[in-house]
Amino acid sequence: MRKDKINRVVVKIGTSCLTHQNQKLNYTAIEHYLRQLVDLKNSGKEVLLVTSGAVGAGMGELKINLPCKMAEKQGMAAIGQGLLISLYNKILRQFGELGGQVLLSSSDINEKKKYNNIFNTLEVLIKNDIIPIINENDTVATDEIKFGDNDTLSAQVSSLIKADLLILLTDVEGLYNRAPSLKVEEDLKLINKVEKITSDIEKKAGCSESIVGTGGMKTKLQAAKIVNAAGITMVIGSAYKKNIISKIINMLEEEKEYKIGTTFLPDDNHQQSGTSNK
Ligand code: GLU
Repeated sequence: MRKDKINRVVVKIGTSCLTHQNQKLNYTAIEHYLRQLVDLKNSGKEVLLVTSGAVGAGMGELKINLPCKMAEKQGMAAIGQGLLISLYNKILRQFGELGGQVLLSSSDINEKKKYNNIFNTLEVLIKNDIIPIINENDTVATDEIKFGDNDTLSAQVSSLIKADLLILLTDVEGLYNRAPSLKVEEDLKLINKVEKITSDIEKKAGCSESIVGTGGMKTKLQAAKIVNAAGITMVIGSAYKKNIISKIINMLEEEKEYKIGTTFLPDDNHQQSGTSNK
């Protein structure tokens, strides 16, 4: 078990964990996540939030079930993103904190100058004690410049900002040996630790899709590949577990075994660079 000190943490939360079934924002859940993030920050860590939920919240507001066209989704995102950020800041203010909204397209990350600007903006927010609240810039994203899902976005942001840890909070406990929904003989087992993403692991992820949300396990594995290659640890955990974030941090920093969610360890040659020397 690595004992490295974790300094900079990116937490990504998926739509299904932010909204009710009717897509209205889930205030209790959101309050619980933000409370955890603020406590994490006040314990001395640097914290960034990657949030989904903009399209969902817009749909909930307009009581629209399935926006199909790109323009419709973009309209929903415009409505929902505003709702999200104002709710986040309303709650954060109660804890004496504030979030800064950062909306990104993948073309921003792929262009050197913009990449540097994003890095500088995020650093300024962190240095000023503001929690960056990041989402895809859904209202302008076209197919060519889309991250497509926030698992990928959060992985790219983690690499860009040289995070020590990426936590993906979702509606399942982690990666299983088989699809939890399948009624088969084989026992359902959570895979607690992945040291290398083999084809066998990819196969398991292929049949272990989450029910709601854009990503599912496949995109989470893609995210793990991106961050692990950059020396960053990634953990998939259940958003519904009480104080899941501090439990994950404690597991990585103090405890002797990987027992919560699924931890993807960085590539060997990066083991040391994952620790923060910022
Ligand atoms: N950016 C999308 C939204 O805020 C979510 C994409 C995703 O969850 O992967 O609705």
